[in-house]
This record gives sequence, C-alpha cells and structure tokens, in this order.
Amino acid sequence: MSPPSRAETFPAHTPAVSQIFTTVLSQGPLTRLELSRRTGLSPAAVTKAVRPLIEAGYLVEDVAEDAPPALGRPATLVRVDGGRALFIGIKVTGDEIIGVLTDLRCRILVVRHLPLPGRTPQQVLAATTGLVGELLTEADGMDVTVMGLGVAVSGDVDRAEGAVRYSPFLEWRDVPLAELAAMATGLPVTVDNDVRALTVAEQWFGAGVGLSDFAVVTVGAGIGCGLVVHGRVVAGAHGVAGEIGHVTVDPAGPLCHCGNRGCVEAIAGDAALVREVRAATGTEVADAAEVLELAHRGVAAAREAYARAGDAIGRGIATVANLLGPERVIISGEGLAAYDLFAEQIRAAFHAAAFGSAAECDLRTRPLPFDEWARGAAATAIQSFIGSEPVRARSTP
Ligand SMILES: [Zn+2]
Repeated sequence: MSPPSRAETFPAHTPAVSQIFTTVLSQGPLTRLELSRRTGLSPAAVTKAVRPLIEAGYLVEDVAEDAPPALGRPATLVRVDGGRALFIGIKVTGDEIIGVLTDLRCRILVVRHLPLPGRTPQQVLAATTGLVGELLTEADGMDVTVMGLGVAVSGDVDRAEGAVRYSPFLEWRDVPLAELAAMATGLPVTVDNDVRALTVAEQWFGAGVGLSDFAVVTVGAGIGCGLVVHGRVVAGAHGVAGEIGHVTVDPAGPLCHCGNRGCVEAIAGDAALVREVRAATGTEVADAAEVLELAHRGVAAAREAYARAGDAIGRGIATVANLLGPERVIISGEGLAAYDLFAEQIRAAFHAAAFGSAAECDLRTRPLPFDEWARGAAATAIQSFIGSEPVRARSTP
C-alpha cells in the first residue's frame, strides 16, 4: 500500500475558490456565466477562480450541447472531475462504525460496516484504523490518492481542535480524536458532529441544495439538529449550535441526562419512549424497536408516548423556525421508522408554536441511512481539503 501523498494540496484556499468549487460540486455542470449568477461573484472573479482548479485537474470543461453559444463560441460547462481524488468518511454509532470510500464528487464507491466490541476511544480508534486500512486498499486498486478522512461522532465536537469534548452516547470527554486518528492512519483527519456532517451532505447533494437557510432535525437515540444560515453550516462560537434536543418544552417534565427537566430529548429520545412505556405498563420493554412494535399493535401507552414525543419534537422545530426562519426543515434519523405514529403531532405542535410566517417553513421527511451520515463525514473531509470550514464565531474576521 503506497502512503498517501501529503504534499498535494488544493490550489488556492480563498473563499472565492472554495465557493466556486462547492457550487460546481453541488449544482454543476455549470457555465462560468451561470456560476457568476449563482455565486454573486463577477465573471472575471469566476474565471480567475476556475483557472487554477482546471490546471490542477479538479475541474474539467465540457462543451455544452444544448446551451446557447457565448460570444459566437460554443458555451463550455465546468464540472468536478470525481476521479481526481478519493476521501473516506466514518460514522460512529453505539454498536458499529460505517465507512465509505467516496470520489471527489462525494459519490459512494465502497461501503463497509464493522461491529464495535465496545465504545471506548481505544476500541473505536482501533476499529476505525482497521476499516480505513481496508478502504485504503480498495483505493489503491483504483490508483487514486485518498486525500482525507472525515469522522462523524455524536455530541459536542470541536471541529477546529479536532476533539470530541463530550459525547454522552459514547461516554467520552475531551478525546483528541483527529490527532489520534491521523497518527494511526497517516491521513489528514476532520472530526465533526455527526448531524452537522449529515447537514453538509444534505446541503451539497440532498434536500438542501440551493437553499440559503435550512435545518436538519434527526430523531432517534438523541434529537439532533444541523443548521445552515446564509449558505453556511453553523458550528457556533463553542462548537455547540442547534442543540434542539435540549430545548425545554416542559419545565416540569421528566429529568434529562443533561441535568435539566423537560428537554425535547427527555420526552422524545429513544430512552424516554422506553422509560414511559415501562412506567405506564409495568412491563419490561427492551428498546425503542419494541416500543414501536407495541404502538403498531395498538398498545395505548406506546401510542401515547409517541404522541407526546411528536408534540415535543414539533415544539422544538418551531423554536428553530422562530429563531432562524429556515425555508425548510428536513426531518430524518432512525426514529423516522415511527413517523406514522407522530407525524400528525409534530405538524400540529409546529403550527401551534411557529410565529407568523415562520409556519410557512416546509417540513420534509427524508429517510437517510447511516451510509449517508458516513458520506457526510467524507463531505467534511472534502470541506477541509478545499478550505471551506464551517462558520465559527470566534474565527470570523
Ligand atoms: Zn437535556
């Protein structure tokens, strides 16, 4: 296995070059004129940004067959050469890690799942190193260099520092994961919150393409939220933004693992559903899958737990809509399997709590399997490679 070339870097880390590249990546192929229109950059600035990207082989030109000729010459379209570079994305869950090898267009070429023997940083790192090794071997066979690794982890993740500050789900505190994974794999590593990583994938390739302001809300073990404001994924000044799971919807509600009462997650997270049905029925309930089964069989306590969860999620989404006014909220996560049980309550609570035209926000459900989350992790590695980091208040000039 040949070591990845660390010397090769993206041609220019200017905001214009990153913006042009991501616009072509998510919306291309495009003519330079159309790129100018969509980015708001002058035609001259577009030409200047495109040139080094073509010279380095990251962008290529095609003659447009159906576009009108420009200035008497056939119009040329600019697109990303997907085969120019490869990336690896890893999504860490409680019981397995999911790895994808993608091309520069973030198209998934290979997917691998590996069960985790446990959740300690050492165990996750060892599994990650093994899986990355397998994917590097695949890349070797394609004769294309892997330029970066993205790892997506739930919880409070400081992307700039490459550290997982606090992951309640994994029970980690202050793990310098980027540094450890870089030493183990020899690749440049980007570590980000998993919902933010998924949000990048949705912004570039999913239901967020072309939207300036949208949110991704994930429902499952935890309730997460990724935010895009003015076209940028928001990380917040402290790396924590969009913690919809810990928005209080009932101050007298159940205790949350964060120490507060009545958080959305304390009512609508998987653990909350299990706890409520146990308490109401006095019977042992193993997990959220069993609550779902009970609800589908018509067990009242399970159906009521989902109704309350839907109400809490709807209120949480209304809070996001009232604060940021997104055009769309994409609802996803493994909890979508139960969507028929709480869709009505989510919408009703959202409409009741959304202020004025914030209620016009388009609520859309998208089943996104963990492969897509891993693809999001690869997208964060592409972001780092092209120098397009998320907004972070204290680093904004
Ligand atoms: Zn909480």
